[in-house]
Amino acid sequence: METAEIRRRWLTFFEKKGHTVVPSAPLIHDDPNLLFVNAGMVPFKPYFLGQETPQWQRATSVQKCVRTGDIEEVGKTSRHGTFFQMNGNFSFGDYFKKDAIRFAWELLTTSQDEGGYGLDPDRLWATVYEDDDEAERLWAEYTAIPLERIVRRGKKDNYWHMGVAGPGGPCSEIFYDRGPEYGQEGGPAVDEDRYMEIWNLVFMQYELSEVRSKEDFDVSGPLPAQNVDTGMGLERIASVLQGVDNLYEIDEVYPVLAKAAEMTGKNYGAQSGHSAGESHPDDVRLRVVADHVRSSLMLIGDGVTPGNEGRGYVLRRMLRRAVRSMRLLGFDEPALPHLLPVSMDRMKQSYPELETGFDRISKIAYAEEEAFRRTLAAGTTILDTAVVRTREQGSGVLSGDQAFQLHDTYGFPIDLTLEMAEEQGLAVDREGFTRLMQEQRDRAKADAKAKKSGHANTEVWKDLRAAGETDFRAWQELTSEAKVIG
Ligand code: ATP
Ligand code: MG
Ligand code: MG
Ligand code: MG
Repeated sequence: METAEIRRRWLTFFEKKGHTVVPSAPLIHDDPNLLFVNAGMVPFKPYFLGQETPQWQRATSVQKCVRTGDIEEVGKTSRHGTFFQMNGNFSFGDYFKKDAIRFAWELLTTSQDEGGYGLDPDRLWATVYEDDDEAERLWAEYTAIPLERIVRRGKKDNYWHMGVAGPGGPCSEIFYDRGPEYGQEGGPAVDEDRYMEIWNLVFMQYELSEVRSKEDFDVSGPLPAQNVDTGMGLERIASVLQGVDNLYEIDEVYPVLAKAAEMTGKNYGAQSGHSAGESHPDDVRLRVVADHVRSSLMLIGDGVTPGNEGRGYVLRRMLRRAVRSMRLLGFDEPALPHLLPVSMDRMKQSYPELETGFDRISKIAYAEEEAFRRTLAAGTTILDTAVVRTREQGSGVLSGDQAFQLHDTYGFPIDLTLEMAEEQGLAVDREGFTRLMQEQRDRAKADAKAKKSGHANTEVWKDLRAAGETDFRAWQELTSEAKVIG
């Protein structure tokens, strides 16, 4: 079943159950706490908090999402994309646990001939929050899942919040058993690759005043109403229904991967097993390319441009990582002009604006690739020499000096140096690098003050601030912000 059809069935099913179909919000939403929309509920947050009254009590959507915190997982697990689409159904003070569970069960297990997804009920597992007896009872009563396949889990897995202050609540998740060739027996608590999480039903009933981590947060009280917020990964269910090993192989993503394999002469999949842990590094790279090209397309489509901070830096990093992965696979020419159109072609069915805006989108992406190619050309030889010298000295750590020089003279962002050094088996003296960066900033500051006052001013030295490298700090903030989302 094509992804577009899965999406259509979702919306039709929930429309028939009295939900209003609401279009996806753009990836950038004016929430000061979030870089990008990272879940289907984000645009509905004011309704859950009772700050605004919705026009409907039930809504459904397929929301574009980006999770920067998942970037390290891409290509290594079978189920994490940086961009993905979240199918959602929402109840604003209307139905609660029972109907949320019944709707999910009906859509998943109704045969494909009758408009459902036709999943085999014997492969489905459910989890509930550790003290949620009610949810456990409802799963047992209204579905065919036996008690042995209903698992209780703690806050880390079964309490949902946005990663920042806002609405939240206990949740109940549905997992699909992909079979023994994907890993160990024993349920989602044992192996989340074999048992893939496909759908999260959140019983949104509390307000969180502070969120320190996934498991550490303060509940300030109940929300004005009991709500339901669910999210199903469209790409994940597509991978199940299309019988492929991971979400980079579904119809909306695979053509880019195939194109990259063709360009690099790689025989994708030939050297890997079914489970994500058995992937050949080249296959992981091809998946990274496919994922990052699509995410970049969607980000630029929604108005993001490459830059050194915040959203722009996320985009820059994805474009560069795609380009670098292609290089590591052996393709040294500009790659995006071959890949981006393929991604657009797959995504335009659901997002026609990608085709009409492609001229603008592609110009931005291609210019970034050109700029990056110039940076790489200048710095790579220097880095390689530094690596050789480090090894000759019997050290496993590239000095802060060398990292600083690469940054200062060749425009190599520190994360690129880290990545490239790591590929060659070396660590980098990050502290040394940060110290040099700070010294440089302080010098600049002192110069500026001296210029202003006309004489050297020693006061500035009292006013030192820990100012890490801009690029790297932005990225760290992004990932730590997003990581708590789980
Ligand atoms: P996981 O534990 O697999 O990382 P999650 O618990 O972080 O997933 P939720 O926050 O519960 O995910 O989001 C709801 C649904 O969105 C998930 O059940 C999954 O189907 C989908 N989803 C979450 N993260 C991703 C991702 N990075 N790529 C694709 N789909 C995702
Ligand atoms: Mg999870
Ligand atoms: Mg989840
Ligand atoms: Mg997650």
